[in-house]
Amino acid sequence: MSIIDLTGKCVLVTGAGRGIGRHIALMAAKAGADVAITYANSAAPAQAVVDEITAMGHKAMAYQADASDAARATEVIEDVVKQWGRIDVLVNNAGITRDNLLMRMSESQWDEVIRTNLTSVFNYCKAATKPMMKQREGSIVNIASVVGISGNAGQTNYAASKAGMIGFSKSLAKEIASRNVRVNVVAPGYIATDMTDGLPEAVLAKIAEDTPLGRSGQSDEVAAAVVFLASSAASFITGEVLKVDGGMAM
Ligand code: NAP
Repeated sequence: MSIIDLTGKCVLVTGAGRGIGRHIALMAAKAGADVAITYANSAAPAQAVVDEITAMGHKAMAYQADASDAARATEVIEDVVKQWGRIDVLVNNAGITRDNLLMRMSESQWDEVIRTNLTSVFNYCKAATKPMMKQREGSIVNIASVVGISGNAGQTNYAASKAGMIGFSKSLAKEIASRNVRVNVVAPGYIATDMTDGLPEAVLAKIAEDTPLGRSGQSDEVAAAVVFLASSAASFITGEVLKVDGGMAM
């Protein structure tokens, strides 16, 4: 058995049909977990993740659920607990960007990002902490961004959502630590996914220049940090923000 082990654990990852969420779901399964995922639009990719996890010999389920929908979040969590009897790990990964300079940013660009990236965290944490506190065990990992720490021109909405997630996570960590439920944040730097696909060459060159390790990160490098924080290898870690950014924000 490896030190980082999720054998028998029930994990839920939001927005995991593709991108970083997909890698988190698959790595959690490789570490031994049964994994439920949510998706907004990627039905076929989400089913492919379920099939891949099932082929590894673990249980898997996919739910179509807009992460900003509170009622649906409650339904999803309740169904996972009904089907599998518990929920051990929640990973809030679903996220979007709607970049614009503030002077050109529309109210809908602001609202959509805050609802998808931050209100979703409220929705799923609120629903999941109830069974976790009852179990006297649980681990929540929220995927923020170094942009929530350092800021980034053109991303006031995104930076606010990710910084909000960090303050939220530390506050919740303090509220529920006595019930042995941990809450941590992973803050990735630049990771090659659909989200960052299509950034102009000049921006990519600047990111590489600003990253001491001199390259972009891979989704599995984020997933490894998440699985570590989710596991009992991190049993004395709560309220932490773990940057996975090649040194960019140090
Ligand atoms: P991505 O490739 O664009 O994937 C985004 C994921 O979020 C998709 O699975 C998508 O599901 C899901 N999603 C979007 N809106 C949703 C909603 N309303 N309800 C449920 N799911 C929704 O992005 P990524 O790079 O993997 O990003 C994953 C997380 O890492 C995000 O929180 C992002 O902010 C964060 N992050 C990424 C980077 C990076 O450089 N890539 C850096 C720092 C932080 P559908 O496909 O079903 O729509």
